[in-house]
Amino acid sequence: MTTVETGVEATTRHVPEGLPTHLQHFIDGELRDSVDGAVFGVLDPVSNQDYATAAAGQAADVDAAVQAAQRSFDSGVWAEKPARARARVLNRIADLVEASDSRLAELETFDTGLPITQALGQAQRAAENFRFFADLIVAQTDDAYKVPGRQINYVNRKPVGVAGLITPWNTPFMLESWKLAPSLASGCSVVLKPAEFTPLSASLWAQIFTEAGLPQGVFNLVNGIGEEAGDALVKHPQTRLISFTGETTTGQLIFRNSATHLKGMSMELGGKSPAVVFADADLEAALDSTLFGVFSLNGERCTAGSRILVQRSIYDEFVERYAARAKNIVVGNPHDPKTEVGALVHPEHYERVLGYVEIGKTEGRLVAGGGRPEGLPVGNYLAPTVFADVPSTARIFQEEIFGPVVAITPFEDEADAIRLANDVKYGLAGYVWTSDLTRGHRVAHAIEAGMVWLNSHNVRDLRSPFGGVKASGLGHEGGYRSLDFYSEQQAVHITLGDVHTARFGAAAAGEIDG
Ligand code: NAD
Repeated sequence: MTTVETGVEATTRHVPEGLPTHLQHFIDGELRDSVDGAVFGVLDPVSNQDYATAAAGQAADVDAAVQAAQRSFDSGVWAEKPARARARVLNRIADLVEASDSRLAELETFDTGLPITQALGQAQRAAENFRFFADLIVAQTDDAYKVPGRQINYVNRKPVGVAGLITPWNTPFMLESWKLAPSLASGCSVVLKPAEFTPLSASLWAQIFTEAGLPQGVFNLVNGIGEEAGDALVKHPQTRLISFTGETTTGQLIFRNSATHLKGMSMELGGKSPAVVFADADLEAALDSTLFGVFSLNGERCTAGSRILVQRSIYDEFVERYAARAKNIVVGNPHDPKTEVGALVHPEHYERVLGYVEIGKTEGRLVAGGGRPEGLPVGNYLAPTVFADVPSTARIFQEEIFGPVVAITPFEDEADAIRLANDVKYGLAGYVWTSDLTRGHRVAHAIEAGMVWLNSHNVRDLRSPFGGVKASGLGHEGGYRSLDFYSEQQAVHITLGDVHTARFGAAAAGEIDG
């Protein structure tokens, strides 16, 4: 570890040993620069200075990656391996990710500004994704339907082909694993386009996959700007699938651009999720969860409970206690294990979030935060910011901020809570806190969201569906649903016994009986 003082002790910058200064594509088993030599700068969010360049992929680089993926797919070297053999490679990948979890977390924290303890948890979750899908493909069964004495139909599952995987900058390595594990488990060959703000941890995949024994050309990575490399991947005629996680507006554009070739699409998009706290809730647990729910991962979390709806009778107490806790949250050097909120990913994003904070000051009552914390004069730091009394018409109630900013709004009764919860275009997640379980289920069912947590914190068994409704996404991943997305399910029909077909054309020849 090298520690570089930036002039202020509190903003000490931790620079990982052996930090690369240039990041390349990984195409057909080799590291490559762009055909035209284009690069872009990559910065860390504590100093906001470039620490590396990355190859900026263009259509020619994406084409080379897709061709390599297609060749490996057509050869059957991976797609036709028995599930058990693929699972062994996936388990080795999991082992390697686990063995390098501290290094991964260190690089991820440096590149994204995520607190180190949370980045470590994400690295371990990435390993778990591979182990989980290894187990799943070995245990997988396919449907067969028998009509006694007449026919049997069965499903012949096959990988779709070349999958384009496009990922965002929040928890990049873990979210990449979320797509890589099921696509590879299914037997697809892939081209990954990581987010341009945070390409560092993705550069580790090449070595991990090679060491684990994934055949050449099955995994390819093209770095680059979304509108260039991402766009080329979406429009390439040979990528049969696009799995995208990112902003809703980007998802809408990708959806349009995929139409020409009618690709399979999985879209995990933005959110503005409600946390509904009834007066009879376990207040302590609800406070812990609603604080963690929006301030963990720097608030750069798709499932963040960024709107807290609180029943009127406990509203004042809740706001007071929530604000007191928010003011106590430790903001600072992301590499310090005591840090709870680190630096936001990029100065452009930081400016956008600060813009919302200023808007919030005109729309609600600021009760905590509201700007740069003291003692952190450089880096993309924002004090956890809490607005109370936010009306549902406010922009900070309606729009995804994707930072450590929360809106609290009172409600009168259950109907009012449901109305407010659903009064946004998004529908990713919802959280309900009440000790009346009948009401808890009723409200959970009424919330327009792909996922609801009832008296529970944002944890998810990997077998359950993940995905949003409304503007938050299209399709559900998780467990077998992910494998279904990356697979064709061909139906094969076989006759048992006599073939009963009307004999067209046989009448003229006098061959039809009766
Ligand atoms: P983004 O949409 O700006 O970028 C996501 C990815 O898309 C990047 O790799 C980017 O380069 C690429 N891209 C951009 N324009 C493209 C284009 N025209 N064609 C193809 N690719 C293009 O999103 P972001 O700012 O990186 O991530 C934050 C967003 O992601 C938030 O809205 C968040 O809610 C969402 N998100 C959703 C989930 C979920 O599971 N629902 C999970 C994490 C993040």
